[in-house]
Amino acid sequence: MGKRILVLGSSFGGYHAAMRLRKLLGSAHQISVVSADPLFTFTPSLPWVALGGRDPSAIQHPVAARLGRAGIRHMQDTVTRLEPAACRAIGKNGVYEYDYLVAATGSELDFAAVPGLDPDGARSHALFTVEHAMAVRRALERLYARGGGSIVLGNAQGASCLGPAYEMAFLIDTMLRRKKLRGKFSISLFTNEPFAGHFGVGGFGAMRRMLEDEFTDRDIECITSVRLAGVSPHGVELEGGRRLACDLSLITPPFYGSHAYMGVEGLANPRGFLLADEFLANQRYPNIYAVGVSLAIPPKEATPVPVGVPKTGQMTQVMASRAAHNIAADIQGGVKVRVGDLGVVCIADAGDTAFLVGASPLQPPRNRLVHKKGKIYHYMKEAFELYYMAHMRYGLPMPERSF
Ligand SMILES: Cc1cc2nc3c(=O)[nH]c(=O)nc-3n(C[C@H](O)[C@H](O)[C@H](O)COP(=O)(O)OP(=O)(O)OC[C@H]3O[C@@H](n4cnc5c(N)ncnc54)[C@H](O)[C@@H]3O)c2cc1C
Repeated sequence: MGKRILVLGSSFGGYHAAMRLRKLLGSAHQISVVSADPLFTFTPSLPWVALGGRDPSAIQHPVAARLGRAGIRHMQDTVTRLEPAACRAIGKNGVYEYDYLVAATGSELDFAAVPGLDPDGARSHALFTVEHAMAVRRALERLYARGGGSIVLGNAQGASCLGPAYEMAFLIDTMLRRKKLRGKFSISLFTNEPFAGHFGVGGFGAMRRMLEDEFTDRDIECITSVRLAGVSPHGVELEGGRRLACDLSLITPPFYGSHAYMGVEGLANPRGFLLADEFLANQRYPNIYAVGVSLAIPPKEATPVPVGVPKTGQMTQVMASRAAHNIAADIQGGVKVRVGDLGVVCIADAGDTAFLVGASPLQPPRNRLVHKKGKIYHYMKEAFELYYMAHMRYGLPMPERSF
């Protein structure tokens, strides 16, 4: 009899897990996706939406249509509780039973962790959705019209998605230069990392120096290893008493995994990130696989201020592909693959140039890496976005080799 495979989430992790499962299992088994969001959003382009270089429609696509063409049913719902002993997920609109589950629900943002962090942009902004990006765009436009001010980018203690703060600092600097307003604005960046470019994995060799030079050249103050005390009407307050004047702040909060997984012994850690073994399967409930941001990955080293391990879109796709392979191996027989070496290639854009890093951040030694700077990487990032969205819209093949 065919198995029921339920995928939670339809972003980088959920979408690719479902598509890969369909390819590996054919139509003999039922694959369904339950996801809170009807749209796929290409998150790496959110900074461009915030800076006004992209409209949301360019980076979003109805994911149900794409999945539907592969014979995968998409149901829009928010799962509020997982009952792994009964093999079912409880949603706001229904109950979903499964034989195998892929959990790819990303994260929830813990705005309550620090006073003044704010989902609505009243005191501070975030950059995780198109709505966030449009709120940042409007706030920036108000500041351009005013002709001057102070801008603060930051990563709060416990934050793990660290790159966007850097990217936004450089992009805003470039934009202000193009508008011939740079001299009227101060830009500061604070971060939980022990040094610039640590990125929750101990850094990428000389990339630290490259970023420090970039901050100096662009006259951006970079404050490292610091905790955020709060965001008040007077500015961004750092622990130790320093206050940064601020007309616009964009701060990455810490993450939860999902409240839906909390409180089930053996399923998730106290922050709601799923526990899994080297095959991405939960040890207590081996028919549950975790991929992407929702997976618990402990930090490789202790840092004075807590820094989470980031999971990039590309790492997430690799995990999705390997989890799908292992579920197929469970069902059809075959050798399972370990999650192994999650090599990443990441491009942080600065508008007038860009930074490429390629490394194996989770596998020591981390010295198998490349980091480069150049405008060519800006165009590579644009080309990647175009190709990715063309895949979503028209089904252009997604090369499996890289995943
Ligand atoms: C501003 C920004 C820039 C980035 N830039 C890059 C980059 O340049 N390169 C790169 O590789 N990565 C980048 N990333 C990281 C990348 O976006 C993530 O690695 C990726 O989105 C993780 O995918 P995921 O599927 O694990 O989770 P998510 O993308 O968070 O998706 C979670 C999915 O689960 C659904 N969901 C959540 N909760 C529930 C629930 N309770 N019930 C049902 N469905 C639920 C959501 O609707 C969504 O479909 C960036 C991230 C941000 C925020």
